[in-house]
Amino acid sequence: MTLPQPKTKIQAELLRWFNKHHRDLPWRKTKDPYAIWVSEIMLQQTQVATVIPYYEKFLKTFPTVRSLAKAHLSRVLKVWEGLGYYSRTRNLHQASGMITNRFNGKIPDTLKDLLTLPGIGRSTAGAILSIAYNREAPILDGNAKRVLSRLFATSGNPIRGETEGLLWQLSESLLPKGRAGLFNQALMDLGAMICTPKDPKCIKCPLCDFCKAHASGEPESFPLKKVRKKIPHIKAVSAVIRKDGKVLLRQRPPKGLLGGLWEFPNWPIDGKKDLMEYLWLKVKSDLGLEVKGKVLLGTFQQTYSHFKLTLSVFQGKYLDGEKAGSWVPLRKLHSLPLSRIHRRISESISYRGIDKKSD
Ligand code: SF4
Repeated sequence: MTLPQPKTKIQAELLRWFNKHHRDLPWRKTKDPYAIWVSEIMLQQTQVATVIPYYEKFLKTFPTVRSLAKAHLSRVLKVWEGLGYYSRTRNLHQASGMITNRFNGKIPDTLKDLLTLPGIGRSTAGAILSIAYNREAPILDGNAKRVLSRLFATSGNPIRGETEGLLWQLSESLLPKGRAGLFNQALMDLGAMICTPKDPKCIKCPLCDFCKAHASGEPESFPLKKVRKKIPHIKAVSAVIRKDGKVLLRQRPPKGLLGGLWEFPNWPIDGKKDLMEYLWLKVKSDLGLEVKGKVLLGTFQQTYSHFKLTLSVFQGKYLDGEKAGSWVPLRKLHSLPLSRIHRRISESISYRGIDKKSD
């Protein structure tokens, strides 16, 4: 693909704009590849403003790749709690062990080695290589994809092979020698601040004169929109079972959705009508517990990337039977990593003061 203008003009205009308008972000105050890697992982599918306090806490708790590798996964999940997409945490933790053992604690500085680590794709690797090591490696995160799709008015779906391949070529061909890190960050900032998904501010854009999407009069029609699928709505019931100032929790399997996090026992209702009856039947059959004093605690909702969850939560008091889970003192609930919806349930318990009631 031929570039519409000498690429040096695009490079110069974008770098000039970035020099004046770049965002002041904590991970831009360092060249530490570990800190840059952590920031890039946190920024996947998460807004900058949300990431900043997590990034600062994470780096304070685990200042080096070795300290992260040494930590128990539960502790890492606890620091990450609330940021979502927990597979990122597990991958980060697993990769820190690999870096410590295989690369002697040094974040790899080649694309080939970075791609062997879980959670690092080509764009994240490109960001680490260009920003931390100043290598001429391209990126293609969501912001870069949008800016390049508009600048060159690419017609295909940017997540499909051929169009994505073309965007990678464009991203690579635009990199200025010796300034790839700055250029990639400029692309990210332009996408976040000016070339936004809705209402791009073309009038303030340093690339306006070169932009084919702007020239078309319909910049928002690039890139081609994904057809959004309707996400399923899952309904489930959950039990808060109390015993001597403790509640019963279970830990999710280490892999898969919310892997390694703790939660109150819960079951999908599969169309059942009498939720209370169904829940206590499951408590008996799956956990082997008899419960008394059963009441509704509340209904909680959470939307994940692929489904929406409505959880009807009931509480009761342990009477008899075996347990299948762990009895956790209420005062220790805050120290366990919980998903957002189960954290809200635990806060609701404290708020209602049931922990103070005698068991
Ligand atoms: S001119 Fe408009 S559409 Fe083109 S890159 Fe700039 S902000 Fe995006």
